[in-house]
Amino acid sequence: MELMTSGRSDYRIVIGKDASPGTRYAAEELSKYLSAIGGAALPVVTDEEEPAEKEIVIGKADREGLPSASALKNDGYILRSAGKRLFLTGENERGNVYAVYGLLERHLGCRFFAWDAERVPRRDPLTVPALDEAVIPAFAYRSTSWHGVAAFPEFALKRGMSNARGTPVTPVLPHSLCHTLFNFVSPEEYFETHPEYFSMVDGKRVRDRTQLCLTNPDVLSITVGRLKETIRSHPECRYFSVSQMDWYNPCECPACRKIDEEEGSHMGTVLRFVNACADAVKDEFPDVLIETLAYQYTRRPPKITKPRDNVCICLCSIECCFTHPMRSCQVPVRPFKHLVDWDHPFQEDLRGWGKLTNNLFIWDYTTNFRFYLAPMINLHVLQDNIRFFLENGVSSIFEQGNGQARSGEFGELRAYLLTRLMWEPEGDVSRWTDEFLEGYYGAAGKALRRYIDLLSDHVTRHGVHAGIYESPMDVVPNTMLPALTALFDEAEEAVRNDPESLSHVKRSRLQLEFIKHQRRLPSSDDFQGEAEALIEKISLSGVERIQESASLEESFEEIRKGDLPDSWEVFWRPF
Ligand SMILES: [Zn+2]
Ligand SMILES: [Zn+2]
Repeated sequence: MELMTSGRSDYRIVIGKDASPGTRYAAEELSKYLSAIGGAALPVVTDEEEPAEKEIVIGKADREGLPSASALKNDGYILRSAGKRLFLTGENERGNVYAVYGLLERHLGCRFFAWDAERVPRRDPLTVPALDEAVIPAFAYRSTSWHGVAAFPEFALKRGMSNARGTPVTPVLPHSLCHTLFNFVSPEEYFETHPEYFSMVDGKRVRDRTQLCLTNPDVLSITVGRLKETIRSHPECRYFSVSQMDWYNPCECPACRKIDEEEGSHMGTVLRFVNACADAVKDEFPDVLIETLAYQYTRRPPKITKPRDNVCICLCSIECCFTHPMRSCQVPVRPFKHLVDWDHPFQEDLRGWGKLTNNLFIWDYTTNFRFYLAPMINLHVLQDNIRFFLENGVSSIFEQGNGQARSGEFGELRAYLLTRLMWEPEGDVSRWTDEFLEGYYGAAGKALRRYIDLLSDHVTRHGVHAGIYESPMDVVPNTMLPALTALFDEAEEAVRNDPESLSHVKRSRLQLEFIKHQRRLPSSDDFQGEAEALIEKISLSGVERIQESASLEESFEEIRKGDLPDSWEVFWRPF
């Protein structure tokens, strides 16, 4: 199918006369990119116009040959040619948009690497092969907080994310996902008058770092009332969270304890409570899911109670080792060694929940939350971890990354791979990686691939286990630093005349500068001067945060003092 020759085309783009703003957006995007590739700007018309021979039809439109979308799911789409007509048919509005980007990526050589890095080839003539394919993402809900995706909704759409807010395309939105019990019953409001609403710990009702007494009927009725108000005032949202606070201290009153003992898990009281909330809202809000965390002390599935159909379980992988495939490594990592019952692994809980619900949501962790600049050596396990989730019935996924700032490591690559894997867990990650490295880092890509492989081989071969708060001290040995430095030198040299790629390389190099500084391995005896030089590099790179829970200025103070903690006790505030 020849769409354009010498910058001219007889084709037009057709949408339904009642097409939604999101589908119109899909048509405009297609016109824009085809024009960039082949030089002709195709007009966008509605199906009220008489059919013509040469048309690209997006979404539902009154045209002969329109494919049925009934077999699609998860916002999937069909690309099908019929004679000289091409159909881009999504399950829904999001599917229509993804169909446009799918055509561009799969068949016209476009690549959407990062919000500021795309590859759009020129083609003359611009042709499309005969097509008949259905593309269905592996996961129904796909999301990540990696900054380069989450902060750029147009790019998030290109990467097929479900929750891109702020474009004409209607997203799937969680109102909340975590730590919401106090939104309903807070100690500030109720502890003075009703201490019995809160956790009993060691025989006493506690106010600090407390949870709720979930067998108390008043707690349920207050929660249900406020939950309904919240849902009514947020008709745009699908997920509403009723979930534990971000610490331990579940209630041990006789009624709660009895349930948790018979259920073999503190999730017993939580899930019975959440089910009751879900039952109470079901009739008024049949499309809403009540989400709760399976996290820390609520991670283990209960023995008796099953989640209702309108309950969503959000299982968190926070305690796992992330340098080895999650399905096989069960080695305790810091700082969770003392907090978690390691005889009862995450893997078993994942399998258990997968058998209990069709609404299993995974909250996964893909950066070092203690030091965003530390090398997070997980690129080689992302694919297997996502496969492991899928095999166990996970339908929704949130890949938490550095959502606070541009990456001074390989965050853009990681976001690219994760977003592709959420669609296509069997994809060719090695090829995707090489394409990205070449597209984003130019001629430096080859050296950076060797850098990445060197670190991946190191943690694999030497059994180096690392969690999300690991100190790089324990992950990257000093003996590797000369080889790693040489690879970044080679990378910079390769792009010395390519300012954009060079700026990407220099920003990613912050990971090495950071660990050298943390170890007080300056190249001169001027520690203070080196600290200021590192601070300047971070500032110039546009990275606005290097620790999850400290401002950039606070982090800079630590760098100046040489105070970047190497012991997790310094950092970690126990639950
Ligand atoms: Zn209780
Ligand atoms: Zn491990």
